[in-house]
Amino acid sequence: MLGPVILAASRSDRMRRLISAAPVTKQVVDRFIPGETVDEIVPIIQDLSGRGLELTMDVVGEDITRPEQAAAARDAYLALIDRLGELELGTRAEMSVKLSMFGQALEGGHELALANVRPVVEAAAAIGTTVTLDAEDHTTLDSMFAIHEELRKDFPQTGCVIQAYLFRTETDARRLAESGSRVRLVKGAYKEPAEVAYQQKHEIDKAYVRILKVLMEGAGYPMIGSHDPRLISIAQELARTAGRKLDEYEFQMLYGIRSDEHLRLAAEGHRMRVYTAYGTDWYGYFMRRLAEKPANLRFFARSMITR
Ligand code: FAD
Repeated sequence: MLGPVILAASRSDRMRRLISAAPVTKQVVDRFIPGETVDEIVPIIQDLSGRGLELTMDVVGEDITRPEQAAAARDAYLALIDRLGELELGTRAEMSVKLSMFGQALEGGHELALANVRPVVEAAAAIGTTVTLDAEDHTTLDSMFAIHEELRKDFPQTGCVIQAYLFRTETDARRLAESGSRVRLVKGAYKEPAEVAYQQKHEIDKAYVRILKVLMEGAGYPMIGSHDPRLISIAQELARTAGRKLDEYEFQMLYGIRSDEHLRLAAEGHRMRVYTAYGTDWYGYFMRRLAEKPANLRFFARSMITR
């Protein structure tokens, strides 16, 4: 029951100010967002990569309100890509971006987001890697898919995310499951109304399996974004049934969540990519992680009380 309340708070400016300023928050935040600057995140990238894990890098930030913030987001990704180029990781470290951080919700936002994200995709391609467009709330998705299609004309490896909780997603998956496409399937992390999304966990899980089957049987490259042990073993079974080899799909999990499982799957020969977020504008990302598991909230609350 707490999840929806926390998700509502994740969009509240008042709560953002309150929680961001709380003196102990940073130490709790570090579990999910292990750095604020490129210099702080590079050793983490090297460590994960040294353990046989791949990465998708997220510079935290979303829902910006001024065009100069979109330009700053672009520049932050370009600076990161410069450093990744020096590390020569190729596709072992790709980027994840939220288009609302590139100006999507502003006046003329669709074009602005496309104009800002294109140089990031170009720079990623220049160092031999790629970008995946994260999925945000359902009102942003038509624009996200149109930008994805546009970028794929020049950079076919550009990936996108689909969310199992949305009724529309099975249709989106059928359209996207084509040769050369890279699609990450997740359950969905936003507060969505009953008109557009399943609300019950068992319905979302069932939809996840249906959609994953579409992706596995299709011609694209499925990226399984989940920590759910049941879904992970179903994914392995579906991959076997579809005759996919280990390098024809991958698992993805978030930094700080079920880290032992990252290593276990990698040791079994699976491609395991860790979604690693860093930066200073961590509020929205952090609150979604709290909403996913109420025990996180208790840990967070305790850290404030026992200070
Ligand atoms: P759940 O049933 O929520 O969790 C399964 C188990 O995993 C839990 O029992 C618990 O042990 C563990 N777990 C899950 N979440 C947490 C947590 N926060 N803290 C501690 N333990 C936890 N959502 C979007 O809407 N758009 C995106 O673009 C997007 N990108 C993502 C990228 C990746 C790589 C991943 C892994 C998730 C992404 N998500 C995204 C979030 C996703 O939608 C879910 O909210 C999140 O993954 C939790 O769902 P689950 O599949 O892990 O299953």
